[in-house]
Amino acid sequence: MGAPAAARPLVVRDALLVTQDPGRRVVRGDLRVEGGRFVHVGPSAPRDGAEEVDGRGFAAVPGFVNAHTHVAMSVLRGIADDRELAGFLDVLFRVDARRTEADVEAAARAGVAEMLLGGTTSFLDLYYFEDGVARAVQALGARAFLGWAVLDADKTTQKGLPLDNAAAFIDRWRHHPTITPLVAPQGVYVCGRETMLGAKALAERTTGLVHLHLSETRREVHEHEARTGRRPAAWLEEIGFFGPGTIAAHAVWLTGAEIAALGKHRVGIAHCPSSNLKLASGGVAPIVELADAGAVVGLGTDSVASNNSLSMLREMHVAGLVQKNQRWDAGVVPAQRLLDLATVEGARLLGRADSLGSLEVGKRADFSLFRLDHPTLVPARPEAIVSHLAYSAEPEAIDSVFVDGRPVVRGRRLATADWTTIRAGAEAAAERLWSDRPS
Ligand SMILES: [Zn+2]
Repeated sequence: MGAPAAARPLVVRDALLVTQDPGRRVVRGDLRVEGGRFVHVGPSAPRDGAEEVDGRGFAAVPGFVNAHTHVAMSVLRGIADDRELAGFLDVLFRVDARRTEADVEAAARAGVAEMLLGGTTSFLDLYYFEDGVARAVQALGARAFLGWAVLDADKTTQKGLPLDNAAAFIDRWRHHPTITPLVAPQGVYVCGRETMLGAKALAERTTGLVHLHLSETRREVHEHEARTGRRPAAWLEEIGFFGPGTIAAHAVWLTGAEIAALGKHRVGIAHCPSSNLKLASGGVAPIVELADAGAVVGLGTDSVASNNSLSMLREMHVAGLVQKNQRWDAGVVPAQRLLDLATVEGARLLGRADSLGSLEVGKRADFSLFRLDHPTLVPARPEAIVSHLAYSAEPEAIDSVFVDGRPVVRGRRLATADWTTIRAGAEAAAERLWSDRPS
């Protein structure tokens, strides 16, 4: 089971290496991959026995880590635009209730394809029927952290108890080489204390990770406060939910005390600025304060129902702009920090700082080759490449993408699957879901 490592060693020769190593070096050199890992990063890699890729004219960039999405919603792009979260969820929950594992898989293939073509090699997902997503990930050769959504038993449309379903899903996939299964409580608005603590306990006895939505809107915060007397993050700390394997998406509406609590417990934060802006959440996640407090901040696109793109390039751009404008500070969250959020910090948030997020010897060989002759990368100067990645590069500039050193995109085409077939499957799934959609 799973993506085989490249049979032969791979050498990418003479590329501009955007290493994202501790010195954030941008250097001209080679990459050599053996057994799915980098064994050489820098000048003059040994070429013996290797398949060679000419890197001249390309920048090699670590694969992006999308820290929050719902990839199987790719067929719901445009289905609930231009409404705020409550109205959005109203439509989405009703569509979700009619989904099948087969249409989730068909849709996930389209979403994973979009991510790979955009240079994203790892993503953190939250949905149900995650076996369908896992099969799509496996077929296309991506790397994924797949969270099975759990809700209180009286609020779910899942068959069986969501926590039991999550546990069974984790058991089925936990030994896969590129898929890490986990449990994902949807949010405090559908998960009471028992569900939250059940999810935490399940995480602790399995893969250590638990993913949830947190304090995305004022309405969520105020309703939870009215119900429990505590704001969501304060309440979660009080019940003992937070830990270093906790990854919270959004975290927009927080008090100073809540920021301190998230920092103290080293909680991961998936910042999703496009989704927050489009759903008019009205605030901007305090990612500078969260990181200063000790939280680990990554970047997520959320789903294409609320973004409406899975492009991490676009997400870096938006994240930078919104922080600068909101804080009246053009120097805050600079280009290098934006690229960090999309690579090394995303890896750290997933507990994979030792194996993902940068071009360094010993790490998994997940990377993209960007065409330096693409209009959005002119001038292709080494001192400007990080700026271009954060602010101007388009997915069309990405020529090739590798996961574990195995090509998954070559010449801007999927190397592991046929897009025409994927698209036909996604359109067929969309036809059924859209034909009698709720208004
Ligand atoms: Zn979400």
